[in-house]
Amino acid sequence: MTETGHHSADHPFGRYAALPLGDLPGTRYPDAAVEALDKRFTARQGNAAIQRIATGFRWAEGPVYFADGGYLLWSDIPNNRIMRWLEDDGHVSVFRAHSHHANGNTRDRSGRLVTCEHDTRRVTRTEPDGRITVLMDRHEGHRLNAPNDVIVANDGAIWFTDPGYGIDGPYEGHQAESEISRNVYRLDPATGRATVVADDFSRPNGLALSPDESRLYVVDSGITHGGPSHIRVFDVDGTTLRNGRVFADDFAPGFTDGLRADVDGNIWCSMGWADPAEDGVRCYAPDGDLLGKVHLPEACANLCFGGRKGHRLFMAASTSVYALYLNTTGVPGR
Ligand code: MG
Repeated sequence: MTETGHHSADHPFGRYAALPLGDLPGTRYPDAAVEALDKRFTARQGNAAIQRIATGFRWAEGPVYFADGGYLLWSDIPNNRIMRWLEDDGHVSVFRAHSHHANGNTRDRSGRLVTCEHDTRRVTRTEPDGRITVLMDRHEGHRLNAPNDVIVANDGAIWFTDPGYGIDGPYEGHQAESEISRNVYRLDPATGRATVVADDFSRPNGLALSPDESRLYVVDSGITHGGPSHIRVFDVDGTTLRNGRVFADDFAPGFTDGLRADVDGNIWCSMGWADPAEDGVRCYAPDGDLLGKVHLPEACANLCFGGRKGHRLFMAASTSVYALYLNTTGVPGR
């Protein structure tokens, strides 16, 4: 055991964990912790190194970037708060205390924050004046389990997952009985009508649309409860999904949790919970080829693109948030 507490002395990236914030002293560019497995990845690598931009959290999740404000938000689920990091000066503060154990965050097409809350078992929207609107907490009379992650499509529809980790126990919510299947939903905020778009997941988790919105990717992290550990992809057919198939399944005994698409449709997903050498982020081509890895000293739960030009990858990884400049950008507005 080293001072990192989790990594053996010869772990190639264990050296990060003992370091404070910012650039790593002596980093040789390009960063050896950014591993290209395919030249399609090399082309997207910047001459950059991984930075730890914030630390001291219990479980970082749900990152979302606000270009108009120049800040990143993310959830610190067990500590029951949403945090904010200002890009201009690196200042970190509490954005929302008593967040109801918020998890996934995103923005709608008007720029409003949309949040999954474990403790209140609902999806909410934060209005420009700070008021919180409940978008959904029930379906056909049954309480949701504990919404986990959420995205908003170009038509304003809110797609979210409801695996129920937040009612497994008190750490990330509270213990409660499930009243409903662990579904994937599409909610039309104009009508308030929600439909179940997938009901055959063990634990549906992170989700992402392809840039043209023809495909929806959804993580199944069911391995936490004896189920699968993979990403599925569906063809989006209007308001429904069809042709579901496995997109990537090389995660077990670990698993992925959250994911985002870049402008070329590559899928960047988190990785953790098994071999520390695999902790971090992976990048898959739309055809399913694994293109590269971003190795982190902590298990990663979720990520987003951001920065003023959209080419900075923010990674919520256990107790810290990391950032890496890339030669690609996320889908605008995601
Ligand atoms: Mg998640």
